[in-house]
Amino acid sequence: MKPHPDLYLNGAWRPAEGDALIEVINPTDEQRIGHVPAATPADIDAAVRAARTALPAWSTTLPTARAAHLTALHDILTARKDEIAETVTAELGSPLPFSQAVHASLPIAVAASYAELAATHPFEEKAGTSTVHLEPIGVVGAITPWNYPLHQIVAKVAPALAAGCAVVLKPAEDTPLTAQLFAEAVHEAGVPAGVFNLVTGLGPVAGQALAEHPGIDLVSFTGSTAVGRQIGATAGAALKKVALELGGKSANVILPSADLARAVNVGVANVMSNSGQTCSAWTRMLVHSDRYEEAVALAATAAAKYGDRIGPLVNAKQRARVLSYIDKGIAEGARLVAGGTQPPRPQGYFVSPTVFADVTPDMVIAQEEIFGPVLSILRYEDEEDALRIANGTVYGLAGAVWGEEAEAVAFARRMETGQVDINGGRFNPVAPFGGYKHSGVGRELGTHGLGEFLQTKSLQF
Ligand code: NAD
Repeated sequence: MKPHPDLYLNGAWRPAEGDALIEVINPTDEQRIGHVPAATPADIDAAVRAARTALPAWSTTLPTARAAHLTALHDILTARKDEIAETVTAELGSPLPFSQAVHASLPIAVAASYAELAATHPFEEKAGTSTVHLEPIGVVGAITPWNYPLHQIVAKVAPALAAGCAVVLKPAEDTPLTAQLFAEAVHEAGVPAGVFNLVTGLGPVAGQALAEHPGIDLVSFTGSTAVGRQIGATAGAALKKVALELGGKSANVILPSADLARAVNVGVANVMSNSGQTCSAWTRMLVHSDRYEEAVALAATAAAKYGDRIGPLVNAKQRARVLSYIDKGIAEGARLVAGGTQPPRPQGYFVSPTVFADVTPDMVIAQEEIFGPVLSILRYEDEEDALRIANGTVYGLAGAVWGEEAEAVAFARRMETGQVDINGGRFNPVAPFGGYKHSGVGRELGTHGLGEFLQTKSLQF
């Protein structure tokens, strides 16, 4: 993927107003691989105006016509799957097999689901004597993070296009090349000019200008809770709708009836995949005191096997942040049983797969999102204790429960969290994804995700 020196505005690649640039670094070897424009608020304004101009025609296109564009987009992404994986590996650093299996394949599946939903979703329904029309909300400002670069984009842009919205996308600074590849695919899919616009830029400049712009009807944001809170406040003051997908600190609850080895091994794999940079990662493992030491030994062995198989963190700042949490865990008195702060390689932003035992619920490493390959193992005495610990953070994005199925389901129903995997249930790209509490507002994926981009109008007869 050759970087574009321009922004994608109103159906074409056009130069940005200013000449500021964002450097793109490969986190595996710390080498510069390209640069993209850092947009100004004037560029954001131009993109929003293009989207507003395109909205009336796009919002009244037949859903089947929008579905045809999404099918074309899906087919192009599928044809460019290898290039997507290589681009994500270059700018995020994830090992190529993971980029192929997850970073490329997941968004392709999500694009397919919205191509189908655009064609089949009932955009009109009956309520007594009324006809209720589900109409596009308008122009969407989409702001995305770097951790799943293409998935985060597709999870917003595909349902927005399916709903009949126009979009201005501001992707993360660290992974703009994947966003440019996506813009090329949208262009190739024949989506009309102005319906999708890509503006690369810095969060506090371009992102903030987008969130504040009066021409935006919905801000759909995925990222940190701190920035999400700020965006929510700005949007609230302007009475603008927001969808916020934020941080997490999910619990992996292993009940006494569970297959312990399987629960621990899958739990460790869950935390180490994508080098721990997954908002829904089960970073707190909860084990009954009777089997605690057995679980700790299994987790330490499993983590050691990941040794040099995981990729680096995305940048030097994230690595420093994660290492400071490991130092904090040691200082708080947690027992380090795998990994630590020693760099596993001399070059690249790598952190060793790390496991802490004897973590108590009040420790910083049990409360705050670390966003790196760091697992905390906590001890519980009975089910009520486990529930208190599981629900005892400000977050509520995801989680897991292992045990006899009915028991596990009953426990999961009492968890304050948006999604729970029972006995290793697989990620489902059409199941609603989103947070309770400080993990967010709204849902992505499937029909619930589509609903975020719609508003209702009822006609009485
Ligand atoms: P971040 O909040 O720093 O950045 C996310 C996006 O917001 C980027 O595009 C950034 O440029 C932009 N941004 C930054 N400051 C802004 C501002 N003042 N106004 C407008 N936009 C601004 O987050 P990050 O470090 O890129 O991503 C990691 C975080 O994202 C983690 O906390 C993680 O849990 C969260 N996340 C959540 C989900 C979810 O679905 N709940 C998914 C992935 C990541």
